[in-house]
Amino acid sequence: MNLTNLEKVLKNEPKYRIKQINEAIYRKFISSWDEATILSKELRETLKKECPIDITADVLVSKEKDSIKAKIKLKDGLEIETVMMRHIDGRNTVCVSSQVGCPLKCKFCATGMMGFKRDLTHEEIIEQVVFFERYLKGERVTNVTFMGMGEPFLNYDNVMKAIRFLNKELNIGARSMSVSTAGIVEGINKFADEGLQVNLAISLHAPNDKLRSELIPIDKKYPLKKLLKAVDEYILKTNRQVMFEYLLIKDINDSDKHAEELAKLIKKPLYFLNLIMYNPTGVFEPSKRSREFKDKLNKLKVNFSERHRFGEDIKAACGQFYIK
Ligand code: SAH
Repeated sequence: MNLTNLEKVLKNEPKYRIKQINEAIYRKFISSWDEATILSKELRETLKKECPIDITADVLVSKEKDSIKAKIKLKDGLEIETVMMRHIDGRNTVCVSSQVGCPLKCKFCATGMMGFKRDLTHEEIIEQVVFFERYLKGERVTNVTFMGMGEPFLNYDNVMKAIRFLNKELNIGARSMSVSTAGIVEGINKFADEGLQVNLAISLHAPNDKLRSELIPIDKKYPLKKLLKAVDEYILKTNRQVMFEYLLIKDINDSDKHAEELAKLIKKPLYFLNLIMYNPTGVFEPSKRSREFKDKLNKLKVNFSERHRFGEDIKAACGQFYIK
């Protein structure tokens, strides 16, 4: 979509026109101006030329049909990936990208390997959700997670703009949205003051700085002590639960000793752990002792959940977003 000329096109139109147009794009999810029959034919023709609303994307559907990946082409020719997961309970979660590529270079993540191209605008973030709203033809996107390409807290303002817009115009509940960060402390601090009910997730993946900084280079700038202090302050301010994501990687972070260290870090009120199986990106292997690791956590009385894996066959699972 390219709505940058919209204001210019509407300058001689009554004020309510923009409301009608927003309604058509973000509530009725029209994919062509012809469907906006509330507008005059003449205006529709101008809009077609000046404000194209088609979204160009290649779509891949997984074998189980429960995850759909769209590779969306942006105005400048760059591409991003976005995925929709269809849960059996009826939820439809869209996992959006916040940047083209990513500057953080986490060892286990495919996006890091492609380098960083640029930030997405808030419109480009919203467009990813609009794409799937159109795809669903009437059924709705219920959840949005900022867990696609990029580090959302390094594109903070556009991510917040997109969140507020999705909440207000597309009616997606704040509590049904989540932002995941590799641990950008300034972002966590600001997020605590937004007054939003949006969920916060932290990519932890290692229980000590020695290992974590090897896997997630930004840990050197924001070591665990600083990071967890910011999380504690966030919890104090918002009284909201924080999810810690922990990948299980073979022989890297999956020993009983790691589980013990992890338990020490994570057994705090409103902290909760989400275990993720490592999805192959050509560097490490998935852990073979996830059962033992979970047993150990249970013995240590750590609460945790496990992330369901979606879309591995179409490279649509966590950490597999990559554009050549
Ligand atoms: N930059 C943000 C958001 C994008 S990553 C962040 O780091 O949180 C979304 C989630 O997928 C993160 O928890 C990330 O660590 C995880 N992830 C990355 N590579 C993965 C892989 N190969 N297998 C499984 N999860 C992965």
